[in-house]
Amino acid sequence: MNDDDLRGALAAAARDFHGLGWMLGTAGNLSARRVDGSFWITASGRAKDALTQEDFVAMDLAGQIQETVAGRRPSAETSIHQVIYRHLPAAQVVFHVHSVEANLCGHFACDGQLRLPPLEMLKGLGVADAEPAVDLPVFANHVRVAQIAENMDAAFAQALPRVPGALIHMHGVTAWGDNFAQARHHLELLEYCFRYLTQARLLGLGGES
Ligand SMILES: [Zn+2]
Repeated sequence: MNDDDLRGALAAAARDFHGLGWMLGTAGNLSARRVDGSFWITASGRAKDALTQEDFVAMDLAGQIQETVAGRRPSAETSIHQVIYRHLPAAQVVFHVHSVEANLCGHFACDGQLRLPPLEMLKGLGVADAEPAVDLPVFANHVRVAQIAENMDAAFAQALPRVPGALIHMHGVTAWGDNFAQARHHLELLEYCFRYLTQARLLGLGGES
């Protein structure tokens, strides 16, 4: 994809996620890696249902701005994307959204891990076990976003998550993939797990049933 196509695909994804209620009030940020290794990320403070080609900033993996239009500033959460691209060379697209279910599920975590329900759909997240016992990492939220990124960086240096995603408590979920379609599938599957977990609690099933 050329630069225009990358930004167009990001804008289309943002519009879809806004429609799903995952990117309301300018929340969330999406990015895609360019051929030179830098990445386009949504600019800060823009409504996610109406992004144009100007609403993106190109950043390198060290956090330096490569390109910006009309004085746009990069998302305040750019450092989280940098950590993912640095640790996962195959990741080409990173989606970070703020959904209700993702925030509720942070409360179900133990010791920084959320046990995902052993659903057939985990296959779509790369888990093919007959009785999967898979945890999603959950990071504490901090006003200083760099602190979240530093904690994620340290954790990923120890072990990469088994599934292509991570949760930030009371904040939102991040998912990634090798291309747009895969990143979207991963995000949708994680959101499905979150919906399952919250509804299972309401039904008194315990979450892992
Ligand atoms: Zn966020």
